[in-house]
Amino acid sequence: MTRVIAVANQKGGVAKTTTVHALGTAWASFGDRVLLVDLDPQACLTYSLGVDPDSLDLNIHDCFVRNTLAGDVLVKVGDLSLLPASIDLAGTEVHLLGRTGREFALRKVLDPIRTDYDVVLIDCPPSLGVLTITALTTAGEVLIPMQCEALSQRGVKQLLDTINDVREFTNPELRVAGIVATMFDSRTNEGRRVLEGVAAESGLTVLEPPVPRSVRFAEASSKGRSIVDSSPRHPGAEAYRQIVQALR
Ligand code: ADP
Ligand code: MG
Repeated sequence: MTRVIAVANQKGGVAKTTTVHALGTAWASFGDRVLLVDLDPQACLTYSLGVDPDSLDLNIHDCFVRNTLAGDVLVKVGDLSLLPASIDLAGTEVHLLGRTGREFALRKVLDPIRTDYDVVLIDCPPSLGVLTITALTTAGEVLIPMQCEALSQRGVKQLLDTINDVREFTNPELRVAGIVATMFDSRTNEGRRVLEGVAAESGLTVLEPPVPRSVRFAEASSKGRSIVDSSPRHPGAEAYRQIVQALR
């Protein structure tokens, strides 16, 4: 059975893309077949894997709008497969808005290739728009990266409302796998306090351990890599590996 996991939070800069890349790399290192799906018009995941969207003839937009087969769009990067994005995806949103069954658009794109993988990780854009809804409709599980700072709670509540709508209308099986605490600063108590607050209020699990804050993350992605393979002994890499072990 293929696991499909959407990584979502409508807030930008909370490490969605970093989390997808790191979890995917860690997951592949355990020998599983991993597909990453870039669903953000900013194509940050695609760039982070060292792929320049402008150099590609096709991207996931073509699957949505021209019925191009996902298998023809896939890019292989090391052990990972990637369905790349480009700025064209901004047009996908508009296109899908005029279509019946738009929530199921990504499911339709993935269906022909889904069983080739053990796990599919979807990097959502920083909004609760059509693209995020189609990801949540396709996924069996959702992971919520959260930066542990004051006011993070409010965004999570809004996301949970959206997840409940998706459950009601398009995907009753969707379950929240948990919160990934990102950019965690263990030197202050603030992070722990926020996490405990969110866990208590939402009833969600916070996956252990929190991912520490480090400049190594940005350094790795600027070189087209994840910290998990560029600095495998770094506590940040170790944290993502442990989270994968917990999820598996
Ligand atoms: P999102 O996809 O939610 O917008 P990104 O994954 O692009 O967020 O991360 C935003 C920025 O934070 C990037 O520059 C990334 O390198 C950096 N970052 C991600 N995780 C960490 C971390 N644990 N510590 C420090 N910086 C991080
Ligand atoms: Mg992102």
